[in-house]
Amino acid sequence: MGIKTMNFISTRNKNIYSSLAEAIRLGMPEDGGLYVPEYLPKVNLDALASVANYSEFAALVLKDFFAGDVLAEQLSTLCQKAFDFSMPLEKINDNTFMLELFHGPTLSFKDFGARFLAECFNVLSQNKKMTILVATSGDTGSAVAAAFYRKNVNVIIFYPAGKISPRQEQQITCWDENILALAVNDNFDDCQHIVKSAFNDPWWQTKLNLSTANSINIGRLLPQITYYAYTSLKFFQAHQVQPGFIVPSGNLGNVTAAYWAKLMGFPLREIVIASNANRVISDYLASSQYQPRASLQTLANAMDVGNPSNFERLNYLFDSFKLFKENVQAFSVTDEEIKKSIKDFYQRYQKIICPHTATACSVRNQLSEKPWIVVATADPCKFETAIESLLQQKIAPSPQLQAMLSRPSHAINVSNKMDDIKKLIEGYFKKS
Ligand SMILES: *Cc1c(COP(=O)(O)O)cnc(C)c1O
Repeated sequence: MGIKTMNFISTRNKNIYSSLAEAIRLGMPEDGGLYVPEYLPKVNLDALASVANYSEFAALVLKDFFAGDVLAEQLSTLCQKAFDFSMPLEKINDNTFMLELFHGPTLSFKDFGARFLAECFNVLSQNKKMTILVATSGDTGSAVAAAFYRKNVNVIIFYPAGKISPRQEQQITCWDENILALAVNDNFDDCQHIVKSAFNDPWWQTKLNLSTANSINIGRLLPQITYYAYTSLKFFQAHQVQPGFIVPSGNLGNVTAAYWAKLMGFPLREIVIASNANRVISDYLASSQYQPRASLQTLANAMDVGNPSNFERLNYLFDSFKLFKENVQAFSVTDEEIKKSIKDFYQRYQKIICPHTATACSVRNQLSEKPWIVVATADPCKFETAIESLLQQKIAPSPQLQAMLSRPSHAINVSNKMDDIKKLIEGYFKKS
């Protein structure tokens, strides 16, 4: 039997499609939609049941998505290099478990996607050096910087000067060589605007061979399927019952990967979206009107999204309101509930959770007695300012974070004027 090549089609038009490598390189299809796999391959659970090694398991789960692509031959190596940290499933009580996805180098689940994408770009960039642009207000910037450091790709990170916490800033600026961190004298929306304008500007395109590592890139989403696949199957083998998953969500990338895993046939009983006060999905489910809006600032700031970019992918999966409502559940949690959740969890289990994870724990209490896996998206020591005053204790940085805090910082301040930014970039990468 020949291998069927997997194409990646636009959510807006199935006649616009790319190979996987091209979809990763372009980031977005030309019609402004998002890339999705043309079909979700059905999994053979029996073949996976005996595979214990995570990166081996992941390569098998992703195999059909890579079929016929230039990256296919490298898939096992990509998985081995990207997934080299632990992923414990902790038992909280008889019917609640916590999947800790924050043991990678920058202490959030974004390490899975960023590290995998960096390995893909490292291969794709062999012939012609590429430059990745990222606008960030937090975890994405640090995950991408750490993942791409000393790879064969240049990275420019734009972040809003003075608008992120000192620990967050240090995680973005503690790199050098191929990573350039620019503190833009403006807010996050302007950083995003700079990146968007760069993509439409021939100067950038010809000089720098641009691509992006934001969560719309399919190369960040596919690897996230693998932890839902692995965890649900191992859980089912151990307990003979399917777990539900509660996913703290902002741009809905992580939860989209969970739906893909379920539709591939992995034993995820049901999936629940936990949001902070940015309640665009719960409001949609209640009103049938989808209304994106400006984001609200909350304690779970990595989820402060009013117009989630991956809604388009979820809506492609469940393309009528009726289907969407049958398949998607969402709960919104206020800052007061997040605080209560962090405190209660600590009192009950002597375990500190981050504000994002706390949204999912709060939702857990509103659900059935069936078994649930709460997805823990970040290490609490990344969000010490929110937690320390609540619990009346200091939170020490983990060893990975301490290592980053001890490196020299290389932030470069820049105005939001395109000409100033271009001059600076030209000088910087000439040296290296
Ligand atoms: C990015 C992030 C989220 C939200 O994930 P999405 O894929 O955007 O829904 C949740 N928690 C943490 C800690 C994050 O960094």
